[in-house]
Amino acid sequence: MKRILFVLTLIMTTLNTTFCSKQVQKEDNPLLNEFATPYGVPPFDQIEAEHYGPALKYAMSLHNEEIAAILANKEEPTFANTILELDRSGMLLANISDIFGMMCAAMNSDEMQKLQEEVMPLMAAHYDAISMNEELFNRIKTVYDKRNSTDLNAEQIRLVEKIYDGAVRQGALLKGEQKERLQKINEELSLLTVKFDNNLLAETNDFKLELSGKECKELPKAVRDAAQEGNDDNFVFTLHKPSLIPFLTYSQNRELREKIYKAYLNRGNNENKHDNKAIINDMIRLRIEKANLLGYKSYADYVTSEQMAGSPKAVYELLEGIFTQANEKAKEELAEMNTMFKRDHSGENDKFASWDWWYYAEKVRKQKYNLNEEMTSPYFALDNVRQGAFNLANRLYGLTFRPIVVPQYHNEASAYEVLDTDGSHLGVLYFDFHPRASKSQGAWCGYFRRPSYDSNGKRIAPVVSIVCNFTRPSGNTPALLSIDEVTTLFHEFGHALHFLFSDVPYNGLLDVEGDFVELPSQILENWALEEELLKTYALHYRNNTIINKSLIEKIHRSAQFNQGFMTTELLAAALVDLDIHSLTEYKELDVDAFEYNALYEKRGMISEIEPRYRLPYFAHIFAGGYSSGYYFYTWAEVLDKDAFAAFVETGDVFHRRTAQAFRKLLSSGGKKDGMSLYREFRGAEPSREALLKARGLWVEPEQTEEPTQDNE
Ligand SMILES: [Zn+2]
Repeated sequence: MKRILFVLTLIMTTLNTTFCSKQVQKEDNPLLNEFATPYGVPPFDQIEAEHYGPALKYAMSLHNEEIAAILANKEEPTFANTILELDRSGMLLANISDIFGMMCAAMNSDEMQKLQEEVMPLMAAHYDAISMNEELFNRIKTVYDKRNSTDLNAEQIRLVEKIYDGAVRQGALLKGEQKERLQKINEELSLLTVKFDNNLLAETNDFKLELSGKECKELPKAVRDAAQEGNDDNFVFTLHKPSLIPFLTYSQNRELREKIYKAYLNRGNNENKHDNKAIINDMIRLRIEKANLLGYKSYADYVTSEQMAGSPKAVYELLEGIFTQANEKAKEELAEMNTMFKRDHSGENDKFASWDWWYYAEKVRKQKYNLNEEMTSPYFALDNVRQGAFNLANRLYGLTFRPIVVPQYHNEASAYEVLDTDGSHLGVLYFDFHPRASKSQGAWCGYFRRPSYDSNGKRIAPVVSIVCNFTRPSGNTPALLSIDEVTTLFHEFGHALHFLFSDVPYNGLLDVEGDFVELPSQILENWALEEELLKTYALHYRNNTIINKSLIEKIHRSAQFNQGFMTTELLAAALVDLDIHSLTEYKELDVDAFEYNALYEKRGMISEIEPRYRLPYFAHIFAGGYSSGYYFYTWAEVLDKDAFAAFVETGDVFHRRTAQAFRKLLSSGGKKDGMSLYREFRGAEPSREALLKARGLWVEPEQTEEPTQDNE
């Protein structure tokens, strides 16, 4: 999963009152004046770190004034004087915090970090005060209660409902004591989240495997180079995945593989001061109490009720079926590796273990597919791959991309104007491709200006940015991407198209469901390696020869390699997440036993695989926004594979009418619930068949006819 979640963590417990007593100089602050730049992009050449604090503070006070004006209205609350005003309020704050958030991730510094720590609690308290405002909620409720008897259209009704439901989910309907209890729970939960994260960080950094050059001479040069400390004969491997996984993949030393993998698996579970099991107990207890307070049986019920899935039952139905298939497939993969393992280890007590998986999978891969990165990367020069994404958007949607000169925050960033089929301006798209110390890990797509409408109904075009950490060019060689980097670029480009197409009349309808978010991005990965598209962009960087058919076939065949394992470990984590959040009553939890029972006892998972995240270091669900939501990726994958099948079924993967329908789905995202939009696009509910086929897990239903020649 090649994405970092771009959630600004709101730490509400460390409210800092010393923040910025300086008088706001509005006219001197470029963030508070209209951007006099081409296309209204942020004036990065003028914005300094010191501008954010005062600008955000000013924007918060402006937002408060807007809310006060709504409350000062003595007339009967209506859609226009309450909901619409509320929807339009706080736009300056939203815009500045969008830019601030993007810069914290791409251009971090001590100053920005300090600013973040100061400003985030203030913003959390600011939004909290608005959602807890009883007077405001009463006005919202008045409009909500009459929403079906006034002449509101479907989108307006949806906006009223989203705002009302949002407030209720924050506890707006609770009475005094309950409200206080909820606030207390939220406060405790946010503190536990921080503790969980800090423990995990400490445990991750606590372990180092230090080796001499001799001890790791069998590792590929790139892996050794990355591990070398200074010029010494000292090579350090850590529990961070970019260090851990190559070691597990290439190290012949089985004892060291076991040592590092066990250290990884036991983070937060070492019975020391950084142990997370008591915190997990507290969080589960508080989440159950919170769900009950808000009228839900379990926390999973609370979370899924506002997703496409709608209920834990629907999620279980999806996950269990795929898990069973994947576990079976993993058994086949294991059998294949076991043959090799036995050749290497003839001892009676030698048994294939989880820390052997990467090493033997790599051996099988080499033997079976005869494919390595040096064969593919010359065809994936960065500029060519970007052109491939542009070609795709042109074939599907008729878009064109024109390089433009605009103020930049870093000299490696570049920008394009995106033009629609008729040549009209659709938005601006930035790219910022290479790693640097000030940039977070991973790849993401966000915006410097969100798509919206102004009060006169005029579209405000988005300014979108794709940020990655791709291989750099070196000397005369351009940046040559791995296949994983190629699909990452297409993935983020898919998020960008979603923002660029977005055409939603109200700000409050911009957000789509959590289990919808990765549909627009993941679907583009399906095209990245399609033969017809590859032929337009996968040209050898030295002589422009087009990638040949046999190499394309190798790439396609190896795509299903090891999918039993990858699917099993992914779904194991998703299932444990759902299981633990489906508890309706708290009793002291033995965290290890809970996980063991859920996977190995109850579901028969093979013991040679560990879940991708064990509970004591499952930060997505205990320190991120994914509690009861680790299934989002898989849910969206069902959608993206099924949606891509709609193209394949026409016999033309660039089918324009299907593309038009898909664009409508993207542009309407948030206007209706995701499942209704999906049904309108596909004419049916999504089927998981395409996902199973793509992962090589599909089993044909029993047939009675003669066997046919089918290579599926
Ligand atoms: Zn994504």
